[in-house]
Amino acid sequence: MNAGAIPAPARHRGRFAPSPTGPLHFGSLVAALASACDARHAGGEWLLRIEDVDLPRNRPGADAAILRALERFGFAWDGPVLRQSARADVYGDALRSLQRQGEVYPCVCTRRELEAAALGPGGERIYPGTCRQGIPAALAGRTARAQRLALAGDTGACIEFRDRLQGRQRQDLRAEVGDFVLRRADGLFAYQLAVVVDDAAQGVTHVVRGADLLSSTARQIYLQRRLQVATPAYLHVPVAVNADGAKLSKQTLAAPLPADALPALRAAWRFLDQPLPQGSAEPASVAEFWQHAIAAWSVARLPPTLQLPAPAGFASRAAG
Ligand code: GLU
Repeated sequence: MNAGAIPAPARHRGRFAPSPTGPLHFGSLVAALASACDARHAGGEWLLRIEDVDLPRNRPGADAAILRALERFGFAWDGPVLRQSARADVYGDALRSLQRQGEVYPCVCTRRELEAAALGPGGERIYPGTCRQGIPAALAGRTARAQRLALAGDTGACIEFRDRLQGRQRQDLRAEVGDFVLRRADGLFAYQLAVVVDDAAQGVTHVVRGADLLSSTARQIYLQRRLQVATPAYLHVPVAVNADGAKLSKQTLAAPLPADALPALRAAWRFLDQPLPQGSAEPASVAEFWQHAIAAWSVARLPPTLQLPAPAGFASRAAG
């Protein structure tokens, strides 16, 4: 990929990038609402991308259900929906350009072997570099190969950035993550590569998403530098957690968004501690809600924290 191919858009451009692993839940609504309001409040565009790059995790029909739910909740996106599953050739180009720069190497380590590696502060295993200098002779017979990024040996892999809400961040990728996977042994491209290629291709200037992805951001900024594409501004909103402190997700049986959009939109708005209309009268319709939300959106009001409890009724299927 070359920097000249993608002109940086002059406008503010945000995006929402759900993975179709199940129906949208309250946590996804919060991320969608925050990213849409942030873009529209600034007079910018808001794009939608279906992150279905991890094929085995996709659930049949989930992408159509996500689009329907977003429409029902009054979200309106600009331009066509981008689908990662159709973009393997573009990710392949990016991988090849890193390979030409000598920054990629094959790795035959199994998941089980990597379970013995040290845990990084983000809870992920730090790749110990087993295959960095070539596949060790004892493992030479293996065929399944992931492709890993060889992180720079100097301080080039220490990434610092300022999140618009969470403040100054610093991650030493070599010490805390290790050479990470760009293409998996099953041939699928890794989320980290796909998201960087797509944010650049879509000209995204402002990424707003859940704080569970804060720890991925340094990897993405590193890749942006290696691929010579622009780094967007980042804002990570608090993640909604259930009574056990676990992020709402398919695995934690998060309740799908209810049929009635307005109470859920209001709950997401309150979750983000956003200003209510003058006199505190709640908007009476979805259209009114959006009118107020786009005008009143305030980054200064967002709670600068990584997680918050989901409101009662939205946390889990069992409870709600
Ligand atoms: N697809 C990711 C998710 O659903 C979001 C990725 C992103 O916003 O960068 O969690």
